[in-house]
Amino acid sequence: MKKPTPLESLIVAIIREDGPMPLDRYMALCLGHPLYGYYMSRDPFGPDGDFVTAPEISQIFGELVGIWCAAAFQALEAPRSFNLIELGPGRGTLMSDILRAARVMPGFAAAAQIHLVETSPTLRKLQARNLGEAVTWHEAIDGIPEGPSIIIANEFFDALPIRQHEFHQGQWMERRVGLSADDRLVIGRTAFPLAAPPAPEGAILETGTLRDDIAQVLGARLAKSPGTALVFDYGHAASALGDTLQAVRRHEFCSILDRPGEADLTAHVDFQSMGRAFTQSGAVIHGPITQRRFLLAMGLEARAALLSQKANPAERKIIARATERLAGENQMGNLFKVMAATSPGLATPYPFGS
Ligand code: SAH
Repeated sequence: MKKPTPLESLIVAIIREDGPMPLDRYMALCLGHPLYGYYMSRDPFGPDGDFVTAPEISQIFGELVGIWCAAAFQALEAPRSFNLIELGPGRGTLMSDILRAARVMPGFAAAAQIHLVETSPTLRKLQARNLGEAVTWHEAIDGIPEGPSIIIANEFFDALPIRQHEFHQGQWMERRVGLSADDRLVIGRTAFPLAAPPAPEGAILETGTLRDDIAQVLGARLAKSPGTALVFDYGHAASALGDTLQAVRRHEFCSILDRPGEADLTAHVDFQSMGRAFTQSGAVIHGPITQRRFLLAMGLEARAALLSQKANPAERKIIARATERLAGENQMGNLFKVMAATSPGLATPYPFGS
C-alpha cells in the first residue's frame, strides 16, 4: 500500500473526529488547504503540469476575449476608470493577452484598474511576474472597490466545491468521504434530506452553493454599478443529473480519492443554476452559448490566418492544432460554454443574441 499523502492523513484524522466528510469540504481541502492544497504550492498548467487551459493553448483565446472587453468598455461609455476583474487567473496569461489586445481601444489601458481574485500564493507570484505590480490581489470578490466593472472568469467556477446527493431506496442521501475498515478513504452515503424530486435509483445530483453564492455577489455588483461579466467553463446549459466530479493528474484521469492534494479536482458547471443566481440578484444573463460559437463569431479563424501568414510551417501547424483544440466540435468547442451577465439596461453584448 502506498504511503498516504500528508493531506490524506489529515483528512483521515478529521473524519475520525467528525464523521464522513461532505464532498465540498473534501474538495476545498484538496484544492485550497494552505499547506497541502493542490493550487497552493504548484503551477499546475502546461505540458509539464497536470492540465492545459484555453489561454495556455493559444494567445488567440485571450486576444479575442480582449477584443470582447474593448467592446464592453465602449458599451459602458468608456469610463475614465473601471475595475477589470479576473477570478482565478492561473498564470496571468489570459489577463496579459487581454491587455495587449484591448490596447487598440483608446482609453482602455489608462482606465483599467486590474483586480485579481486568487487564493494561491504560488500563482500570485506567477501572476505578478507576468503582469507587473500594477495589479491588486484579493482573497474574494467582496474586497474589490465599487464602480464600473468588466469581470472575466475562465475555468474558475469548476474548481469551486460541490456536494453530491444520491437517490437511494426512495430517498435522497448525501455522498460523503468516509473510512474503510483499514482507514482508506471511501465514498459512502449518509442520510441527509434534500428537497428535490424523486429520481431513478442511483441517480446523482450535484449542488454548488458556493458557486451560486459567488454568481449572486457578482450579479449584485452588476445591479449596483454598470458592468459586464464573461464566464467560460465546461459544463451543461441546463441542469441535469449525473456525476461530473473528476480528478486529473499529469493529463490523466484518476480517482478523486487517490493522493489527495496532488490531483486537480473539478466538477462541471451548471449554467442554469449559475444563471439563476445572477438573475436573482438583479443582473441580466446572455447565453450560454458554446465556446466554439463564441470564438468563431469573435474572429478566431481570421486571427489564426493572420498569425499563420507570419509563421513558419512548424508554427503554422501549431496554430492550426490550437485553433482546432479551442473550437473543435469534439474538443473544447462544444463542451465549454460561455455566459455573459450585464447590468440591467445594457444592450445584449455581441455575439450573444446574434
Ligand atoms: N483561469 C486560469 C486558471 C484556471 S485554474 C486559466 O484559464 O488558465 C483555477 C484558478 O482559480 C487558479 O488560479 C486557482 O488558484 C484559482 N482558485 C481556485 N479556487 C479559488 C477560490 N476559492 N478563490 C480564488 N481563486 C481560486
